Amino acid sequence: GRRRLIVGNWKMNGNRQGNDRLLQEILQGWNPLKDTDTVICPPFVYLQQVAQALKSCQIMWGAQSTNAEQAGAYTGEVSASMLADMGCRYVIVGHNERRRLQGEDNAQVAAQYTAVLDAGLIPILCVGESSEQREAGQALATIESQLHAVIDHAGLESFAHAVVAYEPIWAVGTGKTATPEEAEQVHGFIRETFGHLGQQLTILYGGSVKPSNAAELFAKADIDGALLGGASLNAEDFIAVCQHA
Ligand code: 13P
Repeated sequence: GRRRLIVGNWKMNGNRQGNDRLLQEILQGWNPLKDTDTVICPPFVYLQQVAQALKSCQIMWGAQSTNAEQAGAYTGEVSASMLADMGCRYVIVGHNERRRLQGEDNAQVAAQYTAVLDAGLIPILCVGESSEQREAGQALATIESQLHAVIDHAGLESFAHAVVAYEPIWAVGTGKTATPEEAEQVHGFIRETFGHLGQQLTILYGGSVKPSNAAELFAKADIDGALLGGASLNAEDFIAVCQHA
């Protein structure tokens, strides 16, 4: 079967002292699970701090974004090869906050996805619809076009080395989770989109996952884990969700 995966996306949160405390609490309470991988994605400036703290533990770390270019005159940007150089394993691409707030489009997301793979890292490709799109009956069509932009650019087979995360925008940071049934429907659709590769593909759910709803989400056949925002900033919550995986 597929391995489980729990990814904590700290977003633009933290400071050195608070991170140290959070990491220490996680290290004290977290136990490795045989079939579950765990990843923490801090802001770029704290990657080294997190890498250092996690050195002798099985929790891996990742980045929240990358530039699609390798190097050059791109002020303020960080390339996937730089992340690989630092020991990074995973990179989130196409998070809805970057699509909406940084104006990243499907083509840029596809280019970033390819750059991550080319650097030998695992992209976590985020897709998901807005509440307007869901209400208009366009949820699956939106997700399909987000996926196809990447499939057409990088090829279906590239997903043997990738993770997909379904994050309905209306459930992110709102406390309003998709029901397990709503999420499972989309996860099944995503899996089908990948044909013969679908059964191997790790598909995460993201959007207000917390200890109280994690178990029922993870009970669904096509939900392989979670991409956590808020719950990854609290050691007790993070550990509890990991233990439900
Ligand atoms: P919340 O868990 O805070 O809703 O955030 C989800 C998310 O966007 C993770 O990438």
